Amino acid sequence: MPDKDLVSWNSFISGLLRSGFTSRCLSEFCRMRFVLHMQPNYVTFLSIISACSDEGALSEGKCIHGFAIKLGILDEVKVVNALISMYGKSGNLHEASRLFQLMPVPNLVSWNSMIAIYTQNGLAEESLEIFTRMRKAEVEFDQATMLAVIQACEDLGFRNLGESIHCLILKFSLIANTTIATALLDLYGKLGTLHAASKVFGEIIYLDRVAWTAMLAGYAVHGYGKDAIKLFEVMVKKGVDPDHVTFTHLLSACSHSGLVNEGKHYFKIMSEVYGVEQKLDHYSCMVDLLGRSGLLSDAYDLIKSMPMEPNSGVWAALLGACRIYGNIELGKEVAETLFSLDPSNATNYIMLSNIYSAAGRWSEASKIRALMKERSLSRTSGCSFVEHGNKIHRFVVGDRSHPMAELIYIKLEELIRKIRKAGFVSKTEFVLHDVDEEVKENMINEHSEKLAMAFGLLVTDAAMPLIITKNLRICGDCHSMAKLVSLIERRVIIIRDPKRFHHFSNGLCSCGDYW
Ligand SMILES: [Zn+2]
Ligand SMILES: [Zn+2]
Repeated sequence: MPDKDLVSWNSFISGLLRSGFTSRCLSEFCRMRFVLHMQPNYVTFLSIISACSDEGALSEGKCIHGFAIKLGILDEVKVVNALISMYGKSGNLHEASRLFQLMPVPNLVSWNSMIAIYTQNGLAEESLEIFTRMRKAEVEFDQATMLAVIQACEDLGFRNLGESIHCLILKFSLIANTTIATALLDLYGKLGTLHAASKVFGEIIYLDRVAWTAMLAGYAVHGYGKDAIKLFEVMVKKGVDPDHVTFTHLLSACSHSGLVNEGKHYFKIMSEVYGVEQKLDHYSCMVDLLGRSGLLSDAYDLIKSMPMEPNSGVWAALLGACRIYGNIELGKEVAETLFSLDPSNATNYIMLSNIYSAAGRWSEASKIRALMKERSLSRTSGCSFVEHGNKIHRFVVGDRSHPMAELIYIKLEELIRKIRKAGFVSKTEFVLHDVDEEVKENMINEHSEKLAMAFGLLVTDAAMPLIITKNLRICGDCHSMAKLVSLIERRVIIIRDPKRFHHFSNGLCSCGDYW
């Protein structure tokens, strides 16, 4: 079609882009430019930059960038914004920020792109800095800004920041925006403050399915299964249809709270009554739920009856149950399946090695560790975090780097003395190394959770729950200690691990000792 004018070329290229033919977009652009010698305009550039961005074609993108400079098209703000987002997506933040600095007057989209790309590249602090600059420049922000900022707060794990964002949202009456309010609710839930999440839920004017589901997810991950079920029933009574995400959280709520019958009921009726097909996630929740109650063979049967191929999530749920119930035979079989499905996931090897160690089968455990070494897999080291005084304090096992280290160890010793008096015996099997009992006990007594707990008790407000975040699953010994400390120190302690929140109070944990 040699006679096509620029307008139809532009719509042709953007049509290709919309239909997902991104690489063809680039080749047609070359034909237009170099074979037909047509002069593209900024509309053409927007499509082409977007195609390069989607394809991850950074070197082509750079050529296009150079070409745009040559044609003087960089005066168009939209083109610069598209380039910023392209560079940001490919991780080239230096170039993105250089382009941004050169802009005479960045518009809202430019600011939003900068905030979003820093968040996407894991630089939450920088992202919030840009937001502060944007506020100083008196640029009015919108939903996209707020969602990116909330994401940054979640990545940083700062509750303080979450609260200031909440104030801002209220000040600008954005609480009426269900998407923003839901993101805020979700943020509070993830940062451990479920009461704040449910307060936001109460403030939302128009509750849609996403908002209901976010609240349900909060209850689920905090181990409030009964509240999750209550909420679900209210939601359907109000005529809001649940979807597969709602059911994932509902089943996981049942699982986190050990509500076996309720879980079975909802698993059955989700397709029968609500027409939502059971997917892999729902099966993993059910396997987790059955496994938790010790119904390992029922869990295994459920996996075998699945209409689709079980994935590693489903098998990992069963492996977790094997660990809790010390079922070595099944554990070995399941772990081998997992090793072939997901050979580079260190967690599965560690889980099997732990199953062997807990049973005192050291030589098998060390074989698994050798296998990990052979496959160059390493165990992530555990660390725990506590927020205090606008800072996140980080602890690793045996950490003495904190300025208050001396006081922390004195407090820790005092805590251990008190809980021993109450009958606590260190569960050294959780050290899972072939070393002397005494050495084991010393190692276990300096776990990062324990240091974080001692520090938190020293510095945080006694009237408030002490919130600790752990990057790995909390070990059994620290779990038992947290229960007793909550009783002896009369403090609510909340520990978040990658899977859930543990609420310790009066000597008990909300997970019912299954996690
Ligand atoms: Zn521990
Ligand atoms: Zn727990």
